Amino acid sequence: MFSRTLLVALMTLPTFAADPVTGTNPFFTEWTTPFGVPPFASIQEEHFLPALKEGMARQKREVAAITASKEAPTFQNTVVALEQTGQFSDRVMSVFSNLVGAETTSKLQAVNREAMPLLSAHRDDIQFDPILFQRVKAVWEARASLKLEPDQVRLLERTYKGFVRSGAALDAAAQTRMRAINNEQSRLGVDFGDRLLKATKGFSLVVTDAKDLAGLPEGTRLAAAAAAKKAGQDGQWLFTLDGPSIWPFLEYAQNRELRRRLLTGYLERCNQGGDTDTNAIVSRVTALRAEKAKLLGYRTWADFVLEENMAKDPKGVYGLLDQIWKPALEVAKRERTELQAMMAKDLPGQRLEPWDWRYYAEKVKQAKYDFDEESVKPYFAIDAVRRGAFTVATKLYGLSFSEVKDIPIYQKDVRCFEVKEADGRHLGLLYLDYHPRPGKRGGAWMSSYRSSWVKDGKRIDPVVVNVCNFTAPSGDRPALLTSDEVRTLFHEFGHALHGLFYAGRYRGTAGTPRDFVELPSQVMENWAMEPEVLRLYAKHFQTGAVIPDALMAKMRRAATFGQGFATVEYMAASLLDMDWHTLTDTKPVDTASFEKASLAKWGLIAEIPPRYRSPYFNHIMGGYAAGYYSYIWSAVLDSDAFQAFKEKGNLFDPATAAKFRAEVLSRGGTEDPALLYRRFRGADPKVGPLLEKRGLK
Ligand SMILES: [Zn+2]
Repeated sequence: MFSRTLLVALMTLPTFAADPVTGTNPFFTEWTTPFGVPPFASIQEEHFLPALKEGMARQKREVAAITASKEAPTFQNTVVALEQTGQFSDRVMSVFSNLVGAETTSKLQAVNREAMPLLSAHRDDIQFDPILFQRVKAVWEARASLKLEPDQVRLLERTYKGFVRSGAALDAAAQTRMRAINNEQSRLGVDFGDRLLKATKGFSLVVTDAKDLAGLPEGTRLAAAAAAKKAGQDGQWLFTLDGPSIWPFLEYAQNRELRRRLLTGYLERCNQGGDTDTNAIVSRVTALRAEKAKLLGYRTWADFVLEENMAKDPKGVYGLLDQIWKPALEVAKRERTELQAMMAKDLPGQRLEPWDWRYYAEKVKQAKYDFDEESVKPYFAIDAVRRGAFTVATKLYGLSFSEVKDIPIYQKDVRCFEVKEADGRHLGLLYLDYHPRPGKRGGAWMSSYRSSWVKDGKRIDPVVVNVCNFTAPSGDRPALLTSDEVRTLFHEFGHALHGLFYAGRYRGTAGTPRDFVELPSQVMENWAMEPEVLRLYAKHFQTGAVIPDALMAKMRRAATFGQGFATVEYMAASLLDMDWHTLTDTKPVDTASFEKASLAKWGLIAEIPPRYRSPYFNHIMGGYAAGYYSYIWSAVLDSDAFQAFKEKGNLFDPATAAKFRAEVLSRGGTEDPALLYRRFRGADPKVGPLLEKRGLK
């Protein structure tokens, strides 16, 4: 997943003399930390609101200076000037939004509740400023005669369309309604996040009898014992909805009733009434989006969103999903038959249920491929895997990585690495925050503390972060990752490289469409599991022995099993997202019945729940609304892109890597992504390599 702060950026930051109000607030001073990173230790929760308010006030003054100009509007005095506003806010927001996601507290949540509607109104004030819009529009209309470079055309187009898409061209009544919708959405978004965190962290399954641990790997038992001890329940075992706890339990615990309870806890999150229920929020948000789309002249929210993506419209998305859904569902049904047969040996006559799927899938893997996922974990100690990802970047792009010890961090387990080019030049910093905590939301994502662009002729060096929820170390055992976690580590690292490599001069052209942004991340996953690459990093955490070829071969064969399940559970969520956002109804609908009807329509089988159900579908409450399909869209791209290396017979082919960096990774959104891709590959992407990779052909 990829996240990015929303504010547009701005102007040189002056240094301030201490002021009685703001004197100790670090956001009002220049940061003298190494590489100018945020001075986390001196940033307190109460610093954010005054700093955010100051940021908004400054951006208002900066915008006013543009609109007060007596000069005729030009690309420079309007579009570039506007893109450079808001820099003070941006510095505050990057710290704030990152901490709200990764290390939140009740105080920060309270600030978030107060700040989000203010920021929404602030953005509306700018987008609905009629003089500003007229100036931007004048530049847009003169674009053919301006002799702009391609990235400038892109910035102009994004700026102009940004105004129109926000409602700048609407009449006053419609704008008033847009403001109200934006305000309500911002409050609902915060509320959703708070409820989801509370529901996720509020659930636990406590095991009091060691017999109920039967089947569980030692590492999982140790981690559960440590979690119980931490919660004051020494001598028991505590399981949670965090990935490293729930998934191994569902894969290995023999106790079927406990598997049922844990999975049900997961699937019923935010769906049980009370102060963690989100059903009303989900249905209200989707209704508001439908209304907003209508106000802007679109049929549905998906039509509005997709116009900016590679897929272009709902037909484009459904068209791709359709090509993959049917074969995937067939494969999943065949898998179901195998699992049911395996289950019949234990429990004759019983029907396979969702909480049995992962458990019997492991059993089939062991029987059919003689492969146990646990057997590879000792080769996937987290540091080894991280070094593996670094090594791939070194071999492809010549980068080097060195840990920076004396630098501010926001939590004691966070680590920071300096990334350098082959010639030794500083490229940027990469923070790594790998394990679950009570104040961290679920999942994995990449974000930035500082984005790259060119300010006054000088490159701003980026500071990026990977936040994940991987298996934690326990006792003297390092964190040993599952192969899924290994892929996720490479994935988020791929997003990080994309952020580090951006070489555009404008901040406003850094972002890429949602269905392209998963290409740089997912393509890295291809390297993770190649034998040649595994030999470089997959070394036993105790003996240092390289992963044996036979084990590797078994793992790769076993990986083709379960692709039906993985593709179907993901695609079911994608279809659900699309169905929500092609609603034309502007009245809230009942979430549960909508979801049920949607999934039934697609023929999803009862044994596979969608990867996310509506009440906890965090992606679509944020920037992946009508965008969750992006992973499979990008998967077509990443499989096809990786094929370019394979065709060369060298996974690290220097010319292909250089081209990939030059045409894709460093380009951000400076041009149409379809064009960027074609320049790299010499052709449009094809769906074949993906279907083949997943055994869906
Ligand atoms: Zn991602």
